[in-house]
Amino acid sequence: MRCQLAEKLRVYICSIFNQSCTLCNEPALPGLGLCEACEQELPWLAPGCAVCALPMPGVLCHDCLLHPPPFTRVEAPLAYGFPVDALASRFKHRRQWPLGRLLGDLLARHLCHRFDEGLARPDLLLPVPLSRKRLRQRGFNQAGLLAQWLSGPLRLPSQPHWALRPQHTQAQQSLDFAARQANLQTAFALAPAARVEGLHLALVDDVMTTGATARALAYLLREAGAARVDVYCAARTPRAT
Ligand SMILES: [Zn+2]
Ligand SMILES: [Zn+2]
Repeated sequence: MRCQLAEKLRVYICSIFNQSCTLCNEPALPGLGLCEACEQELPWLAPGCAVCALPMPGVLCHDCLLHPPPFTRVEAPLAYGFPVDALASRFKHRRQWPLGRLLGDLLARHLCHRFDEGLARPDLLLPVPLSRKRLRQRGFNQAGLLAQWLSGPLRLPSQPHWALRPQHTQAQQSLDFAARQANLQTAFALAPAARVEGLHLALVDDVMTTGATARALAYLLREAGAARVDVYCAARTPRAT
């Protein structure tokens, strides 16, 4: 595993010196690593399903109507399309911290706005865990970093060690919805120290595609007594895949 202290130092240095637009180098808007023009060009997620945020007309999507998920609602500011797909991939696979920080800042700003509108604040943030094998390969958990970056502006604690992923599952991208659900059925577990009874929890992840990961983890948390589970992610795929 890579040195965690060195990683934290790199993240810190990136975040305090990032004063220009992360995408075009023009002066950034205050408190955001993005200029006004680039901000307007981003693929903002269109209004959608009241539960899973899938962009579509009406109140509930087909999936949420037929199979109500164990989470209450998904909050995602961006659609997973260009350039957000490239930002997320370069953050996750090439360790480009400012791009991840930008996604975290956009998600934090979206959530602050939603809380002002009346969205119930959770008791704490729970990053979607990686398996030990994936963590060793990647050196960091992108969801853990996002939760850490959300924790300050949202004034919410993060518990990065409560949810565990003891089994290394096949990469989700190559599977259809049914196969993803089966792949994830036993993927997650809770740490012995986790105390979720009666709590309102918010799962944090970088991208939501089918929602199979969120469903599996939220189901485990609700079974363990969590009162409510929401999902916060920077981007969501605009169509069910
Ligand atoms: Zn720009
Ligand atoms: Zn839905």
